[in-house]
Amino acid sequence: MNINPFETAKAQLEQAAQIAKLDANKVEQLKFPDRYVEVSIPVMMDNGQQKIFTGFRSQHNNARGPYKGGIRYHQQVNLDEVRALSFWMSFKNAVVNVPFGGGKGGIIVNPKELSVGELERLSRGYIKKIYPIIGPEMDVPAPDVNTTGQIMGWMLDEYQKCSFNSSMATFTGKSLGSGGSQGREEATGFGGVYVFEDVVKSKVVDLPAGSKVAIQGFGNVSTFFAQAVEKLGYKVVALSDSKGGIYNAEGLSYDAVLAHKKSAGALKDFSGAKNISNAELLELPVDVLVPAALENVLTGDNAEKIKAKLIVEMANGPTSGEADAIFEKKGIVVIPDILANSGGVCVSYYEWYQNMKHESWSKEQVLNKLSTQIKQAFADVHERQKKYKTSFRSAAYILAAERIIDAMAA
Ligand code: GLU
Repeated sequence: MNINPFETAKAQLEQAAQIAKLDANKVEQLKFPDRYVEVSIPVMMDNGQQKIFTGFRSQHNNARGPYKGGIRYHQQVNLDEVRALSFWMSFKNAVVNVPFGGGKGGIIVNPKELSVGELERLSRGYIKKIYPIIGPEMDVPAPDVNTTGQIMGWMLDEYQKCSFNSSMATFTGKSLGSGGSQGREEATGFGGVYVFEDVVKSKVVDLPAGSKVAIQGFGNVSTFFAQAVEKLGYKVVALSDSKGGIYNAEGLSYDAVLAHKKSAGALKDFSGAKNISNAELLELPVDVLVPAALENVLTGDNAEKIKAKLIVEMANGPTSGEADAIFEKKGIVVIPDILANSGGVCVSYYEWYQNMKHESWSKEQVLNKLSTQIKQAFADVHERQKKYKTSFRSAAYILAAERIIDAMAA
């Protein structure tokens, strides 16, 4: 099934707008990005031949502050995906209440097929094309799927050269050596677990210690989510990467899995676990399902088969509109992406702030601040969820839209 994420995003907003009777003109305006660009990036490959890559940057809304959002490297990147992701960033930033609007970028590439040199030239080439429309007060990119602190470092360096602007605050998610913040790497995963903790505490779902968790994905987000949820006493029983997943109903030891992935290069064939497909992982008999990879993995095709009581969306846009309706009918609680994974951009804001003020905060300071801020976001969303007797997704949209519309009106 081919689901357009940009259509999904617009329908999610429309649903919330009708529930809370939001200003129809402003809502209509919010359905479209302010602007987006498509760029072609010539890269000299190691074999001496030039290859042209296509990249995008979408700037959705800046009523609450500079456009802000990551850059994704993936073979399936396309304009509608980038537009949807920039849209979700505006709402995410408003939910977690950081003074940013929403933006997102992407390049159509499988970075695993490039050498380090090719990757650096591609990253610098992208910045050569978009540097006039980014900057600390204009648009602040960050990592997303398949992009890293190292890539942000190359991009920052290229930006500084092209723009004669030496500010480090144009990019976040940088490595510590190039102006990054303590705690940024952990932020998205830990942030999701801080929200999860309060979902359990407020008895939205009954989840005693020992409840089973399946996580789809094995990148930065899932790594820290798995570690933190294990610490709370929950059992991570399944994990997956792009090549497939592993499952052991008695639980997986995260450290052992990590060691296996490092030596074998993939999760599959981990001793003491069964190999499963990514699709099978989603349908396992678990209490909590955590999609932490790409969008549209939960659709009308598999929603009826999902057994979890709680879905924590650590990926952006993992659930289609059809699946959402099925989950609501089945009483499965969905903690939406724009709340669950907002810890990353929240600490991006702290990084930007530290760069602007030439400050440097400790990891403890950063994570404490993150915990307070994201738990407040959950409380704000929960309040609207009860007030409007609606889903957490619509409640999060209502909260965010109220904040963005206020700023637009001002
Ligand atoms: N790519 C992350 C996200 O989707 C982080 C964005 C940022 O830090 O700007 O939320």
